[in-house]
Amino acid sequence: MHSFSKRRSLISLGITLLALLALSTGFVFKTNATHAAAITSSDHPSLDAGRQALPANDGWASATTGTTGGSAAAAANIYTVTTRAQLVQALGGDNKGTDATPKIIYVKGSIYGNQDNTGKMLTCADYALNGYTLQAYLAAYDPAVWGRTAKPSGPLEDARHASETNQGTYVQIYIPSNTTIIGIGDEARIIGANFMVKSVDNVIIRNLSFENASDCFPQWDPTDGATGNWNSAFDNLSVLNNATHVWVDHNTFTDAKQPDSSEPTYFGRIYEQHDGECDITKGADLVTVSWNRFLDHDKTMLIGSSDSSTVDTGKLRVTIHHNEFENVLERLPRVRFGQVHVYNNYYNEGKSPDFIYALGVGVSSQIYAQNNYYQLPSTIPAGNIIGYYKGTAIHTEGDLVNGKPVDLLAAYNAINTPTLSGDVSWTPQYHLHIDPTQLVPFFVEIYAGTGRPLTQNF
Ligand code: CA
Ligand code: CA
Repeated sequence: MHSFSKRRSLISLGITLLALLALSTGFVFKTNATHAAAITSSDHPSLDAGRQALPANDGWASATTGTTGGSAAAAANIYTVTTRAQLVQALGGDNKGTDATPKIIYVKGSIYGNQDNTGKMLTCADYALNGYTLQAYLAAYDPAVWGRTAKPSGPLEDARHASETNQGTYVQIYIPSNTTIIGIGDEARIIGANFMVKSVDNVIIRNLSFENASDCFPQWDPTDGATGNWNSAFDNLSVLNNATHVWVDHNTFTDAKQPDSSEPTYFGRIYEQHDGECDITKGADLVTVSWNRFLDHDKTMLIGSSDSSTVDTGKLRVTIHHNEFENVLERLPRVRFGQVHVYNNYYNEGKSPDFIYALGVGVSSQIYAQNNYYQLPSTIPAGNIIGYYKGTAIHTEGDLVNGKPVDLLAAYNAINTPTLSGDVSWTPQYHLHIDPTQLVPFFVEIYAGTGRPLTQNF
């Protein structure tokens, strides 16, 4: 049923595309400027794909020195990995992200974060330290016992934190400077791991399916919101601590087999074992996020993690284009501080009645949003697409909501206070080409995510 209706909508979009092509004289369909080769599923990965740099003018990651990743790697520094241990070895061996030798790493098959160096799969119980058990934690910090005015503290909270840190030594994989990591075919998966692009420069991550980064040791915080929340530590991909020149392209991010809907509820809140899908924080800068699919998740992309940050002013410059957001609920993205360009994305949320907002306007944020296509349930007004998080302005133009032109800022201001200004004091200068909004769902459905041709530009 679902795939049939999706196919039918694709066909109707295809007809729209053909009609528009026939009508348009200014729009020329080219395959792409750099002639990106598709990665094949053979045992001989295409070197061409690993040798690709981010094209000039493709978003903020192309600024200044650009993003070349490991494209210049010597033959001796090109690897194909099939396990976590092999991946860590190819990255330099210490899992600290310090080996800046240019390197291209092809991922074949599934890499599991929760796996030791002998290949043994690790369970949550394997990581638990100092007497931590969920049962004991629930007993100690039940609001009926602990109250709701302070975060958990004491030996059991310390044990939870130590256990989480212990899991982190396995699931967090640190990516050094001058690295390209690229999946082979449509079956390259990173399961239960948190890629860390931390304090490094020049990283390319492409054609990988990131599934279910899951924290065995969520923290209860009764002071988070009106009713408290369970919070977790591991994103699928974290770009942080002044990391620069990062290109995240043609990946798929999903909670996969452990959706929030499968989680139990404790203290009246979902036992949330996921953090972000792709979070960019703490002074990170010059990032392009293109042609990815973000699926089946709650808090999806956070840009800037603190209202009181002193390291983010003038940083957190990110371009987000031609991504699909499907059945993801909020932070698409949520922004603090950064000049963030969000264009030609397909918000495929028509079957997401729990959708909360897409563009989060946080403190000092400067979102410049253009030609995005929003499919929303009929119960959700277009004025909900923007979310207020103490910012003052957002630029939007060229948007379609359920096929109709909508001024998103006007729609927001019509039903919300405080109102927002449309003046964000900057205009993107670098972009290659902005597609007509009508074509965005078509292009994105065809080309975004893993296992698709790595074409970049039309
Ligand atoms: Ca995060
Ligand atoms: Ca889709």
